[in-house]
Amino acid sequence: MKTVVEAKDYLESGLKPPHTFAGFVCEQCGEMTVSQYGRTGQNGKKICQDCAGY
Ligand SMILES: [Zn+2]
Repeated sequence: MKTVVEAKDYLESGLKPPHTFAGFVCEQCGEMTVSQYGRTGQNGKKICQDCAGY
């Protein structure tokens, strides 16, 4: 969950994160996805809930 760590680092450094939520770009469809809805797919790819199918 690299994006979560980065968001935490932003908070600790006092800088505002680029987004108000921790997110990532789905490696399958390219859609911006909120991290809490993300899934780890095959080969460790970070994919969205829709692409994961659950
Ligand atoms: Zn996707």
